[in-house]
Amino acid sequence: MHLTDKFGRAITDLRISITDRCNYKCVYCRTGNEGAFYGELPFADYLRMARVLVSLGIRKIRLTGGEPLLRKGIVEFVRELAQLRTHDGEPLDIAITTNGHLLADMAQPITDAGLNRITVSMDAVDPDRFARITRVPGGCDHMLAGIRAARRAGLWPLKVNCVLMRGFNEDQIIPFGMFAREEGVIVRFIEFMPLEEGRVWAPATVVTLDEILNRMAEYRPLVEIPRARSETARRYRFDDGVGEIGIIAPVSHPFCGHCSRIRITSDGKIRTCLFSVWDHDLHELMRRGASDDELAGFIRDVVSKKEERHHIGEPDFVPASRTMVHIGG
Ligand code: SAM
Repeated sequence: MHLTDKFGRAITDLRISITDRCNYKCVYCRTGNEGAFYGELPFADYLRMARVLVSLGIRKIRLTGGEPLLRKGIVEFVRELAQLRTHDGEPLDIAITTNGHLLADMAQPITDAGLNRITVSMDAVDPDRFARITRVPGGCDHMLAGIRAARRAGLWPLKVNCVLMRGFNEDQIIPFGMFAREEGVIVRFIEFMPLEEGRVWAPATVVTLDEILNRMAEYRPLVEIPRARSETARRYRFDDGVGEIGIIAPVSHPFCGHCSRIRITSDGKIRTCLFSVWDHDLHELMRRGASDDELAGFIRDVVSKKEERHHIGEPDFVPASRTMVHIGG
């Protein structure tokens, strides 16, 4: 029996945070004063969790963090994940979300190990703005070298994620449109969510889907193209057919009804929603010697309690018990 929650949503997509550490301090994500809060597990523990979850119907695994490429041994871990098979006997779809800083040297080995896809976070095209947002000097060159190495390694088309936060980078929308066309990457704008350490989110800080479309139209209009039902991003092409832009709009156009995801944090807790106010300690159960069947029973029970939807912007909104960098985006 596949994993299904009480709203009938099939859970097929797992995100594993393999470290709570990050080498960037993006202004919309971190205060800049805090480091890692939570520990990390041996890869063998994440692998066992992944194996049990795949036996329950998981088909896609995305490695994230913190910054996943900081974790020594990630190439070997991807190689191990690539050996797993879904219920239908297919290989998993294995992806990584990274800031790209360390990608240039790792793109080829990690592709050879079995990685299928990569998403690079990039919040400004302008290098000075990039440094102001990440609070790391010179990072833009490293990230661009990483994108180009990923292209050479065959991880293509590559997705670039840009979180827009009013007052920081909404003037980068058109430069990103040009960047998508010139580099051949898929640029996806993400609406800023209340998941940051500093709690600076307010409705007015969100640059919405409609605003992004209107601003891009000053350069070239975008035309919506079909997308898979489970896809988080609405997809667009420019009116001349060149370049793809995605918009992920969890605030103005929530898509919780199609959510197929659960997450495991770096310290081995299951989270059923980014906005969960509790997590479920899978690792503790493993430490106490639980069998795979017992782990599977625990996971089923946890998934059955998955939240129906988030409550961003509503009077009853309660902040998540962890922020994005400590969950794994
Ligand atoms: N370090 C990796 C990276 O930079 O991609 C992976 C972890 S990062 C937390 C994952 C993604 O979450 C990034 O694309 C980041 O931009 C996004 N993110 C972080 N805080 C966010 C927020 N408050 N709202 C929306 N997206 C956010």
